[in-house]
Amino acid sequence: MRYVSTRGYGPMGFTDILLEGLAPDGGLYVPEEYPRLDSEDLRSLGEILAYEGYATFAAEILALFIDDIPFSDLEGITRRAYTKEKFGTDLIAPLSQVEPGLWLAHLSQGPTAAFKDMAMQVLGQLFDYELTRRQRTMTILGATSGDTGSAAEYALLDASRVQVFMLSPLGRMTAFQRGQMYGINSPRIVNVTVPGSFDDCQDLVKEVNADAEFKARHSIGAVNSINWARLVSQVVYYISSWFQASDGQGEVSFCVPSGNFGNICAGHVARMMGVPIRSLVCATNENNVLAEFFTSGVYRVRASTETFVTSSPSMDISKASNFERFFFDLTGRDSEQVAHLFGDQLNRTGVIDIRSTPYAHLPASQYGFRTGVSTHADRVATIADVFRRHGYLIDPHTADGVKVGRERKGDEPMIAMETALPVKFGSITKEAIGRVPEIPARFSQVLDAEQHTVLCDQGADQLKHIIETMTILKPAS
Ligand SMILES: *Cc1c(COP(=O)(O)O)cnc(C)c1O
Repeated sequence: MRYVSTRGYGPMGFTDILLEGLAPDGGLYVPEEYPRLDSEDLRSLGEILAYEGYATFAAEILALFIDDIPFSDLEGITRRAYTKEKFGTDLIAPLSQVEPGLWLAHLSQGPTAAFKDMAMQVLGQLFDYELTRRQRTMTILGATSGDTGSAAEYALLDASRVQVFMLSPLGRMTAFQRGQMYGINSPRIVNVTVPGSFDDCQDLVKEVNADAEFKARHSIGAVNSINWARLVSQVVYYISSWFQASDGQGEVSFCVPSGNFGNICAGHVARMMGVPIRSLVCATNENNVLAEFFTSGVYRVRASTETFVTSSPSMDISKASNFERFFFDLTGRDSEQVAHLFGDQLNRTGVIDIRSTPYAHLPASQYGFRTGVSTHADRVATIADVFRRHGYLIDPHTADGVKVGRERKGDEPMIAMETALPVKFGSITKEAIGRVPEIPARFSQVLDAEQHTVLCDQGADQLKHIIETMTILKPAS
């Protein structure tokens, strides 16, 4: 299996794009073609899921996309990533029925209580495997507003060839998020706090990355959601969820609380592979860039001043970084057109308008996309309603998905993706049900742990100095 950039670069092998992230032409890597699963393939995969479990099932799916790592090694990777110890359940991503026709896919059982663990745990293992094979090390430099950073840090705790510097906005995360990230005590994982906003953190990362010599000397890489390895790990739970809700026959639909379009894009890939998915329902919060596109045909990115701070913060985006992957398929894989629209026009005008193109109607008619918006009031009402009627507490992001999923439901099972646990979001939970969520036993130490951070309030040169002096791994060996 080879990979090409949505803007034309390539082809490349999987392990090369694994360590690289974004393609040199600014595009995102996608497989040259999607592997297809016929009904016989699906039947035998269903048996593997039932009899050998999620980790082996995941290795089978990954192997369809990865031909430069032997299967037995892939299975070792998924077995180390998906353990009962980390996910609290042998099933890893169990499904439960909430009400007639509506299911919840529990994707947030991992170490940081958000669905990002599902992909990040595999990414951490893949990095460690490939860096060992190449006898080199890597520095992950990233910025986080909460979920991604902690999922990355927990995934890279055991990756002995990776040094992490993760920037976060000082005083802007919840107490639980701070406890979870800053409570990590490893010299390979450095939490750098920055006075300011998430965007200020992101700007510092960009500034350091712009110094090509520094970047090369420290082998600086990223773990952001455009990494194909993260996306392909997410394809796995769409297929396992389909099995569980459909018993291996008939169509299902998914509703997905969306931000950067990474989660739902994996659903798109599963559908392209032939998994019987009727609709992919893209749920947004007040930051409705994607809902606007799927209703009007106009993709209009927002300025950061136009991006609302909401009570489902992981969906507060101004543009959806994975959207280009879907758009590539939408144009019939026309990389020239994608390069023009995303590399040029979007930067110049902030808008891509497909209303008068031949593919104006395809997002819905051919690719099954539906959409809807959920607001703060909807989240509060949905959390309260699901709790009152079913005794189950959902988090605000999942509530956005459930609200929109209920609106778009047909006669097929609708599977709502549970993208985080409520423990991380005390204040909206209290607003909805009158009390804060209980802290699950496995997180009981989070708030008490001693916290470790390094302050960076003097700009990019200081950040470089921190990286120089605190890196304990030799860049190349
Ligand atoms: C990251 C995240 C999302 C958005 O997922 P995308 O892949 O960016 O669309 C939704 N909910 C939670 C809790 C998240 O952490």
